[in-house]
Amino acid sequence: MEALKQRILRDGRAVNEQILIVDSFLNHQVDVELMRLVGEAFAERFAQAKPNRIVTIEASGIAPAVMTAQCLRLPMVILKKSASRVLSDDIVQTEVFSFTKNAPYQLTLKRQFIENGDRVLLIDDFLANGEAALGACRLIEQAGATVAGIGAVICKAFQPGLQKLRDQGYDVDALAKIRKMSEGTIEFDEA
Ligand code: 5GP
Repeated sequence: MEALKQRILRDGRAVNEQILIVDSFLNHQVDVELMRLVGEAFAERFAQAKPNRIVTIEASGIAPAVMTAQCLRLPMVILKKSASRVLSDDIVQTEVFSFTKNAPYQLTLKRQFIENGDRVLLIDDFLANGEAALGACRLIEQAGATVAGIGAVICKAFQPGLQKLRDQGYDVDALAKIRKMSEGTIEFDEA
């Protein structure tokens, strides 16, 4: 998605070879118009997978997921990162290792918000090692639903997440795939 790549080049900041800061338009301050275009791009890419629900992970996935859900006119569910203090039968949880916090957390879903037989499109801001997406897929599948597709706004293609998810048979795509980066330079994978 050209507008997104241009924005990453203009306002994104690679702090090192692993971490990209995009907090001026994606996950702290949000450029809503850019997110509308992101939602349209995901809707176009994944409409043929016929999802009936959008799922995302709090908090940075919410903006692109809302716009995708609105474009496709679908309901949206946010997976929570906090451990529930009231564990009950209608909650499913899985441990995920956070790339940014370098620590595990409990990804949590109230079962009633995903129905048996649902076809879920998972949307998140970044795909790095794939731990968050794999955890989300575990929860979606534990709830009896199918992962119809996985969309990341930005994928760091030099990290293993994209390939790991594809190896497991998921239909995964990203609107901007970064091939390589280092302080001050960002190169996209055009494939
Ligand atoms: P993964 O589980 O794929 O390793 O990492 C995905 C999650 O980590 C994303 O939901 C995102 O919030 C965060 N993340 C991964 N890499 C980056 C990065 O380079 N910059 C920012 N801002 N967040 C990242």
